[in-house]
Amino acid sequence: MQISAAVLRRPDGAYSLETVELVDPGPGQVVVRIEAVGHCHTDLLPRAGVLPIPMPMIAGHEGAGVVAAVGPGVASVAPGDHVVLSFASCGACAACVAGHPASCDLFAPLNLIAAPIDGVATVTDASGTAVAARWFGQSSFATHALATERNVVKIDDDLPLELMAPLGCGLQTGAGTVINVLRPQPGESIAVFGSGAVGSAAIMAAAAAGCTTIVAVDLHRRRLDLALELGATHVVDGAAPDVAAQVIASTGRGVLHAVDTTGVGSVVATALESLSVRGTLALVGVSQPDLLVPGSALAMGKAVVGVIEGDADPKTFIPLLTRLWRRGKFPIEKLVQTFPLAEIDTAERAAAAGEVVKPVLLPG
Ligand SMILES: [Zn+2]
Ligand SMILES: [Zn+2]
Repeated sequence: MQISAAVLRRPDGAYSLETVELVDPGPGQVVVRIEAVGHCHTDLLPRAGVLPIPMPMIAGHEGAGVVAAVGPGVASVAPGDHVVLSFASCGACAACVAGHPASCDLFAPLNLIAAPIDGVATVTDASGTAVAARWFGQSSFATHALATERNVVKIDDDLPLELMAPLGCGLQTGAGTVINVLRPQPGESIAVFGSGAVGSAAIMAAAAAGCTTIVAVDLHRRRLDLALELGATHVVDGAAPDVAAQVIASTGRGVLHAVDTTGVGSVVATALESLSVRGTLALVGVSQPDLLVPGSALAMGKAVVGVIEGDADPKTFIPLLTRLWRRGKFPIEKLVQTFPLAEIDTAERAAAAGEVVKPVLLPG
């Protein structure tokens, strides 16, 4: 079928909105009519040139929409179902079987390469050239995306798709890091370094979990104001000379939990310094710089843990987040600003400048 997609032809180029051809769904595959798709920081990776992603390609990995067609053998969703698209996983390795699909043995080839796994193109452009369209098992900067039964998650029909789309990656990552990995108890303390979309989700989840000290650290005043609306009890200007001292002062002895969403070495060091005795720092993101960790920083039972996609199983975690949203405990609407898909370059710049926390693109 013919679809419209935002195609990236050069890592440093603008997106071009093109009519391309999408194949019919094969066994286990699902075609979703995309109603909304979040722009996640990871969508900048194809621009960085660090991954073996062939150009042209279609990015986008926070799609949400309505199932348009299913391939042979697909039983858990049917045309007309509303779904959120998340990352892909194999379903067969030890991590998948144990309920940790973000640690799937095949995570990198299934999500980060985007080229067809069997060499047969699923999308071709007007000249018949293959377009890589398997980014996070979806490539959803388009009117339609080809996904798999495993990476579509059915949600209730009455949920607003433009708010649910970012649950597939960024918001799941931040909330999952808190709820699935750090698991704070009511009354405990947490600091979140970098309060963009992932950090904002961590703050909302910490508030929902009953944390009574929630410190947000960021360089943008607008994001710190938003953090206060989302449940932060303290905010710290990330450019201040005494960030760790300010975080430690929030409880008098440091925080028991911390999340770094920045991947910046000096910020990670500050986060470690901000921990209390027996505190844990979670590092979020697919790439981290070399970290210089003084042994003394890990004294007194402190721990550092890397987390992928919030260690979430999307099939159960995304529905959980929709229930929190219904109860007003996960106010995604405070983060989202919508743009037509044709304005994707504007949306990308607005997110990079910190003007918009979570751009959501509307292909319709
Ligand atoms: Zn697996
Ligand atoms: Zn993402």
